[in-house]
Amino acid sequence: MAEGTQGQGGSAVAKVQPNLALCLSRRREPRYRILATALAEHPDAPLLDLCLMAGVDPDEVDKMWIDYNRRQGYVKVASHLPDIMEDVAEDARTRVSMCRNCDGLGRMEDQPEFPLCPICDGSGKVRKIGDHRSRELVFEAMKITSKEPIVNINNSFSLEGLVGEATRIIRSSSKVVDVDAQ
Ligand SMILES: [Zn+2]
Repeated sequence: MAEGTQGQGGSAVAKVQPNLALCLSRRREPRYRILATALAEHPDAPLLDLCLMAGVDPDEVDKMWIDYNRRQGYVKVASHLPDIMEDVAEDARTRVSMCRNCDGLGRMEDQPEFPLCPICDGSGKVRKIGDHRSRELVFEAMKITSKEPIVNINNSFSLEGLVGEATRIIRSSSKVVDVDAQ
């Protein structure tokens, strides 16, 4: 049984009741709103009794409570999406760093006549290509290489779809290896 109907008047129920009442009050059917009102007016009453009074199956309340919290989780995850996408884009960028072969001098000072460094060709700098997987993710997210649009805003925008894609990107990006650490 979900948290929403556990504890029958105990502290756990009292703690979740405001949000449970809010969750129920969003439903169209009057019996859910009746239960929401009863929850608000009788915070110490056993939830099962209130369900019986309102004609609501406690299992329905459990499912609605789970669904409500799942959606709340989606909203919270979605709020992190811009920063995560920016992180992935940053990982995808090519970086210019000091050439370790010549310590950034451009010449091999430990050799006679100080020849040009064969690695950086005298520039003292080398390019490090951005993380390959991060690049794929960025191109895919920007619909440059994706065959299927990630989110069809015109036809079927859904928070679940957006967050599902975000979750997939988060999981993928967690496997990215820092090129500097190699
Ligand atoms: Zn060099």
